[in-house]
Amino acid sequence: MILVLKRGLGPKEKEGLMDLLRSENYIIKEIEGVEEVILGVVGTIKKDIRYFETLPGVAKVLPVSKEYKLVSREMHPTPSVIKVGDVFIGGDRLVVIAGPCGVEDRKRTLEIARVVRRHGAVLFRGGAFKPRTSPYSFQGLGEDGLRILAEVREETGLGIVTEMTSTGQADLMMKYVDVVQIGARNMQNFELLKCVGRIGKPVLLKRGLSATIEEWLMSAEYILSEGNDRVILCERGIRTFERYTRNTLDLTAIPVIKELTHLPIIVDPSHATGIREKVSPMARASIAAGADGLIIEVHTEPDKALSDGPQSLYPEQFEQLMRDLYVIAPVVGKQLDYTYLEKAAVMKPREGDSRHAHRIVYTGPSGPFSHKACEQFFGTDVPSRSVASYREIFDAVQNEDGALGIIPVENSLSGSFHENYDLLLEYDLRIVGELTLRSVHNLIGFAGAAVAEIQKVYAHPEVFQQCKEFLSRNSQWDLVAVQDSATALRRVRDSNDPREAAIAGKDMAGLFRMTVLKEGIETNPRNFDRFVVISREPFLDGPNNKSSLIYSVGNKPGSLYATLKIFAEKNINLVKLESRPRTGKPWEYLFYADVEIDIYAEEHRHLLEELKEKTEFLKLLGSYRRGFELES
Ligand code: PEP
Ligand code: MN
Repeated sequence: MILVLKRGLGPKEKEGLMDLLRSENYIIKEIEGVEEVILGVVGTIKKDIRYFETLPGVAKVLPVSKEYKLVSREMHPTPSVIKVGDVFIGGDRLVVIAGPCGVEDRKRTLEIARVVRRHGAVLFRGGAFKPRTSPYSFQGLGEDGLRILAEVREETGLGIVTEMTSTGQADLMMKYVDVVQIGARNMQNFELLKCVGRIGKPVLLKRGLSATIEEWLMSAEYILSEGNDRVILCERGIRTFERYTRNTLDLTAIPVIKELTHLPIIVDPSHATGIREKVSPMARASIAAGADGLIIEVHTEPDKALSDGPQSLYPEQFEQLMRDLYVIAPVVGKQLDYTYLEKAAVMKPREGDSRHAHRIVYTGPSGPFSHKACEQFFGTDVPSRSVASYREIFDAVQNEDGALGIIPVENSLSGSFHENYDLLLEYDLRIVGELTLRSVHNLIGFAGAAVAEIQKVYAHPEVFQQCKEFLSRNSQWDLVAVQDSATALRRVRDSNDPREAAIAGKDMAGLFRMTVLKEGIETNPRNFDRFVVISREPFLDGPNNKSSLIYSVGNKPGSLYATLKIFAEKNINLVKLESRPRTGKPWEYLFYADVEIDIYAEEHRHLLEELKEKTEFLKLLGSYRRGFELES
């Protein structure tokens, strides 16, 4: 059950209450609420609900309706993000785990690890203990295999995911592994579940061959009830009457799991299909359906693989899949980050200093999505702060050691944000990264509220602008401009009035325990913002493959053409060119250009000189990595 505590309850009273409940053998979980304190109480509840209602400090008691308690959304309304080293599973950044089915030998395993790392995988898979249908098939290398996996981590920095098949392997798992996989055949091996619950490493819990979603969640409950809440669910196909594919991928499980539990879910399209050619389509579908990541079998010579060769992707197929996912991810509000591990290394707290090497500065009021952009680019665990204006971001980055700023520079519908280009001209900072984010707006209010009854709507003014068409169909609404979406939702919640609503991203509804009344109310669904990261110093090591510049040319025939010719002759891709009037100089224009090269590279020195010659004014804004390529 869930106990909502009285507002303003002191820490001492809260501890007292928790001690009392613990003494009655309940498991107590503090649940994150926006402003109130909430306790989850799990165990065999023998007493009447009224007993709990009368405990000191308790305001309200809510029973949890499901058989599984700790894994339920009721206990934890926001999604759990599971940390594995530098990788966070369940956040806005997709996590792709890749590697062979089994660890076969050192050379091959390292070769595959390098390949998947290069194409953007952030964790490595490979079985050392293989549960095979036939006792005569390859059973895995055991501890020797684990040693090879440890070497993979050492060399590539990829964390290791491997299967544990018996409780006797617990010490080995502690020694060598980052995520313990519980295979489909062991999903209901309760001794094994209790064991991984106790060893406390993150657990990848695969769905059983014929397990219902409820049985699967009950298995997860076993692990959480032992005190380990770092569980990642993995849908890997179930057994149906269909025999064309090895299993039937239950894509429906993704949204169902998202509704029932706070635990992240990833998909294994390799075991789900058993057929190489079917893996990528199902992987793409899984991400589109909302999965937090994928676990994929990849092999450099699948024909020679000792297990699951026919379903293992060739490196080129894996590379192509990752490029596709890079494009799909923003549509569903996520990112595939090819520089995930490099960023984590650069962002870490400094040696001998608990502070992170960098702090991120963004502006909340300017757009509700800046914070999301910040989390998608840097992850959820880095310190960030919101300031009141774009100029303050530039000031902070210029004056504070290690500060990085994130600013929008372009919208797919309305073009460049000139204010930020002007600031980029004025300050001597450089662009060191980029990110694209889709903005989806929703009307959020109280559960059961009717859109037809709404009278007052809160949002940031820019959001009203982007939802103009929907709002014009409801012109009787009183629109109240507020500084950000959290303020909008707080105002609605505190009003306690079902005729009030806010416009914000979906995540905010969960956080405030409110409901999406109308989804996707932005005028055009292809509403993408491009953000850039600004810094005083270089950020990630190269090679960079994209650069931004601003220039102007003289007012004579062919002058713009002369600059473009320089790029054309060298076969350099120009991915953006926009002109805008120069402030204070009527009929003179500035050109914003993005080119797909590292303009600072030695090989382009000559190009740069030519460009200087053909322009009246030239400023390089920075060189950075285009999102989808790790190495050129
Ligand atoms: C595996 O991941 O190689 C494996 C054996 O998976 P599952 O337990 O899903 O069959
Ligand atoms: Mn396999």
